Amino acid sequence: MTDTRDRPPHRSAALLSIGDELVLGQTLDTNTAWLADRLFTLGVTTHEHTTVDDDARRIAQAIERLGDEADLIIITGGLGPTEDDLTREALGRVLAGSPDSEPVAFETDPAMLEALKKWFAHRPAGMPERNTVQATHPAGSVCLPNPNGTAPGLHAWIERLGFDVFCLPGPPHEMKPMVEAEIVPQLRIADGAVTRVRLLLTIGLGESAVADRIADLMDRERHGSGAVQCGTTASKGVVTVRMRVTAASEVEAATLLDECERDVTERLGGVIFDRRDPEQGDSIAIRDALPRAIIDLLRDRGETIGVVESCTGGLLGESITEIAGSSDVFVGGFLTYSNEMKTELVGVDPEIFDTDGAVSERCALAMAGGGLERTGAAHCLSITGIAGPGGGSDEKPVGTVFIGRASADGTGEARRFRFRGGRKAIREWSQRAALAMLRMKLVGIDMTLLAQVER
Ligand code: AMP
Ligand code: MG
Repeated sequence: MTDTRDRPPHRSAALLSIGDELVLGQTLDTNTAWLADRLFTLGVTTHEHTTVDDDARRIAQAIERLGDEADLIIITGGLGPTEDDLTREALGRVLAGSPDSEPVAFETDPAMLEALKKWFAHRPAGMPERNTVQATHPAGSVCLPNPNGTAPGLHAWIERLGFDVFCLPGPPHEMKPMVEAEIVPQLRIADGAVTRVRLLLTIGLGESAVADRIADLMDRERHGSGAVQCGTTASKGVVTVRMRVTAASEVEAATLLDECERDVTERLGGVIFDRRDPEQGDSIAIRDALPRAIIDLLRDRGETIGVVESCTGGLLGESITEIAGSSDVFVGGFLTYSNEMKTELVGVDPEIFDTDGAVSERCALAMAGGGLERTGAAHCLSITGIAGPGGGSDEKPVGTVFIGRASADGTGEARRFRFRGGRKAIREWSQRAALAMLRMKLVGIDMTLLAQVER
């Protein structure tokens, strides 16, 4: 085997997924997400994901284009035994010099052929003739064993463009073990190049407001310069600041992230409610992060919470009780969908329905106040709104939601929101905004959910 130690390190990866079913949107490409995450934890940063249909020329073109920048290309799919499995041929073209070349000659790997025959040994007819192609590889590449399927992988070093290309079968349960067994041991991790990410989860400011405050930290020019690069993503009220840095060591990366976090924290005030250093396989679930943060805050203060829900139908209570240990702080609540129940269960004055309506500031306040009294909690949140698609009016269009809070210290408030999206999104927004309002009370900040509040 040739000595590969002189070849440049794998700093930058590109991922290529192959298949008509993927480009047509019939199968979701989960391989690249997994691969990028796995490579990231190994110290290799992925810069591009590309998906190409079952077409040898286009696959070969994609390999060449990606190889222009990447040191490492990992391809999944297209290694089956049928006419539409064209990754082998595409690699043969690249090895021959161009996407339009006739592929180089194919060779048979005796060990792979043996393994294939063994795979099919239990069948009376033995191995289908068609499968013999799976033991072949373009000259200049080698086969990689696949213990969980019939398609061996391929590996080639493309001297002409200076990159390694690994081809793996598409099925995730075949692909993943091959990454560990065949690719990880062959990676050349750059010395002193550790990339780390930290996430800061915020609620209370819109994404643009967050971005305005950290605009200089988001400048893409910072990228690769040793400085921490910030980016934002938003999901129903939760705006995540993603900090990323490449440094000479783990310790240095952590130090740079800590510094940047202090800077961001100062600029964003109290809206950060959680931080994460995502690990491999963390599905970065922000859904339960906010209820978790609220529960922790309440527990620290020895306080409790109750809820009174109308349009969310229990979603708020569900989001809290989903978290193990919520019984430390959650006492319960009321599901008051009809006006009658609002009156009967939490004592809303029926006069409010005539004057202001059930979707109103006064109703939200009355619900929260009544809930506080009847649950005996330290805080009570209420939600009343129009989740749609029907029931809206000019004055109160679909998405109009009033959220109330009442606390045993005598304070209380109700805010009007206008959420966009379908019924599900409006209900989720409402649940998060309610928790955000309580959080603002608990940490003593007044940060309107700028993007959503109607004054
Ligand atoms: P192939 O290796 O092209 O024969 O792929 C076989 C099967 O693997 C496909 O039918 C898909 O179900 C699955 N598959 C292929 N590529 C991917 C991908 N990128 N993500 C998830 N599943 C995939
Ligand atoms: Mg396929």
